[in-house]
Amino acid sequence: AAKASGGQLVEYTPELDERAEAAERLGADLRHSLDDGDFQVVYQPIIDLRDDRTVAVEALVRWTHPVRGPVSPAAFIPVAEDNGLIVELGEWIMRTACRRLADWRTTLGSDAPLYISVNVSPRQLSEPGFPAVVLGILAETGLEPAALLIEVTETAIFGGGTAVEAVETLNRAGIRIALDDFGTGHSSLGLLRTVPVDVLKIDKSFVDEITEPGRRAVIVDALIHVCAGLELRAVAEGVETAEQADYLRELGYHYAQGYHFGRPVADPITPAAETLPV
Ligand code: C2E
Ligand code: CA
Ligand code: CA
Ligand code: CA
Repeated sequence: AAKASGGQLVEYTPELDERAEAAERLGADLRHSLDDGDFQVVYQPIIDLRDDRTVAVEALVRWTHPVRGPVSPAAFIPVAEDNGLIVELGEWIMRTACRRLADWRTTLGSDAPLYISVNVSPRQLSEPGFPAVVLGILAETGLEPAALLIEVTETAIFGGGTAVEAVETLNRAGIRIALDDFGTGHSSLGLLRTVPVDVLKIDKSFVDEITEPGRRAVIVDALIHVCAGLELRAVAEGVETAEQADYLRELGYHYAQGYHFGRPVADPITPAAETLPV
């Protein structure tokens, strides 16, 4: 028997071996790509539903494998988590995103997004030097702490420990924290009372319910009240239609992102730049 990532014992099969080898190969390719510059950061607008303006952007990493072409982050982030490369890759993403915001400010002034939202994986968050790395990048790029928002998952901070300490340190420094994919992990509303969180990102699966026949927007409706009561900002994710956007507005949502407003692209901010090939 072999150990699965969840810790439970699973039947040992040749397929498992092959999968482990494939992951190892992918991990080695990630290492080379980090040195060769095969990664890119793209940005998806976060919209204020009251005036449809872009208030912020979420940074999302892209990998063009030298042989296989584009590989989805859903496929390679877990591999980078497992082999530890996420620490170096994540630092590169954070630095690239912060530089990008600083550049927008230089060229666009007050038309630049107010903040940049960066995903941080559990392993990265629990790395002891993480808060210092983040503060170093802010100093280096001249951004104030409020210009950065860090997206973490409920699962990453559920167990407490170093990850929660990191969140507390960053929050004390003025960096805001978002809980990503809210409602899909080991969620407990109690977490919101013990960990300093500023933003809840309402998962796409709940937004999808709005337009599913026979379902109502029960959860998105409940969550906007939770956010109001706890003075948290709610950002609805994965908004794909005007109907969903209208409904969210009706329910009192102020912030949303999704393909309806814009896909992640190299530059969604600079006028006319978004048409350039990625
Ligand atoms: P996430 O953080 O929940 O990011 C949102 C994902 O949903 C992105 O996929 C985005 O392109 C996609 N998305 C946005 N709007 C829509 C929509 O309207 N419809 C649909 N169907 N999808 C939409 P992406 O970029 O493939 O990333 C997938 C996941 O990989 C992310 O989920 C995040 O968990 C992880 N990831 C991506 N970039 C990074 C990164 O820079 N660092 C870390 N640690 N994780 C990342
Ligand atoms: Ca995210
Ligand atoms: Ca999300
Ligand atoms: Ca997600």
